[in-house]
Amino acid sequence: MTDVLVLGAGYAGMRACKELAKSKVDLNVTLVNKNSYHYDATALHTVAAGTNVPENIEMDIRDSVSKKINFVQDTVLNINREKNEVELEKNGSLHYDYLFNALGFQPETFGTPGADDIALQISNVDNALADYKTILAALEKYKETKDKSLLTIAVVGGGFTSIELLGELAHQVPKWAKKYGFAKDDMKINCVAPSFLPMFSQKYANYAKKYLEKKGINFIMGSTVSEVKETGVIYGDDQTFLPANITFWTAGVRGNQIMEKAGYDQHRDRVAVNADMSLNDFPNEYIIGDVSAVKDPASGRMYPTTGQISIVEATNAVKNLEAKLQGKAPVKFVYNSLGTVCSLGPYSGIADINLLGMHIKLKGIVVPPLKHAIIKRSAFELSGLKAALQS
Ligand SMILES: Cc1cc2nc3c(=O)[nH]c(=O)nc-3n(C[C@H](O)[C@H](O)[C@H](O)COP(=O)(O)OP(=O)(O)OC[C@H]3O[C@@H](n4cnc5c(N)ncnc54)[C@H](O)[C@@H]3O)c2cc1C
Repeated sequence: MTDVLVLGAGYAGMRACKELAKSKVDLNVTLVNKNSYHYDATALHTVAAGTNVPENIEMDIRDSVSKKINFVQDTVLNINREKNEVELEKNGSLHYDYLFNALGFQPETFGTPGADDIALQISNVDNALADYKTILAALEKYKETKDKSLLTIAVVGGGFTSIELLGELAHQVPKWAKKYGFAKDDMKINCVAPSFLPMFSQKYANYAKKYLEKKGINFIMGSTVSEVKETGVIYGDDQTFLPANITFWTAGVRGNQIMEKAGYDQHRDRVAVNADMSLNDFPNEYIIGDVSAVKDPASGRMYPTTGQISIVEATNAVKNLEAKLQGKAPVKFVYNSLGTVCSLGPYSGIADINLLGMHIKLKGIVVPPLKHAIIKRSAFELSGLKAALQS
């Protein structure tokens, strides 16, 4: 039987397992993931801000994948591509004939001092929960000391994660103010970034910015943070200091650092794949999700890495494995984005959607339920009804 190994149970790995379980080809599929659960990475910011709990975004892997898939809970330490072996932390090595590498994303800090060791990051359930506990600890300390410097937060970055996080934080401020005894205005939340949601039209980005400003968020745009300190951040050409008791670093993502370690030809731990998701040097490997870089034939540039494209990549890669094993022609990767939805807390958002050949732009209160429905649909598709009914 053909041994297939899937590394990582994010959107890409979970979808690959779902498709592999349905395959008519005789395969022995093993999934390796460091946790016993899959998590909805698109909702991590809600855990970091405390508007959601981890249980609502986690799905037990054994309950979610077909019984045909073997599951090994372990951490991948390295991949020996010459020997077709994956080195695990606890269970020795696993052999594969074919590999689906879906090890996902990590924060990109561009070597900025303090961004890795001082700033809070949002890239998995553990650090998202730790972030929330850090906020709560600061609020508790404020209650004792009345030191208003404890109520200062900086969010570095103006992309998706940053803006969605700001929406959740802004929503929490009135509740925190009441519980810990301060005026709403005492909490200073600043966002520092070169640009604001560049993937949206100016009109919709302006809507989002104004909405968050009305909720008390201050934006320092056109600036890059060059250092994170325990007491704040340094930004801009003139090295301005912005005080912040807590700094969130949400200024970018890269692929899993195992890619470089394992000797892949990578850029920021992402590996460029062919139009049929294959690799020239190792044709028994498929690189899917945030560790891959797939070229958009229309623009000639790499598609942005998203959960949405990860799922399409996984489906296409499985089709290509089947085609290869059945001696059929490769299947070209085709991607039609369904669009982008950005929440601004539980009661507003902006969306740019492609549906049934139509291009629809939305803003306001209709967006969060839409985002919720997308997350539920994704949970249902990946893990079934039980997961979709959570939260
Ligand atoms: C706050 C936020 C909001 C987002 N919103 C959207 C959105 O609205 N729409 C959208 O399409 N995308 C969104 N994204 C991006 C999306 O989450 C990612 O593109 C997506 O998670 C990538 O999926 P993946 O399967 O490649 O990797 P991941 O989701 O990163 O999954 C990788 C898996 O591998 C496991 N793993 C990692 N290292 C190891 C190891 N060494 N050993 C074993 N297991 C390991 C991890 O535990 C994880 O389960 C958002 C991201 C964030 C952070």
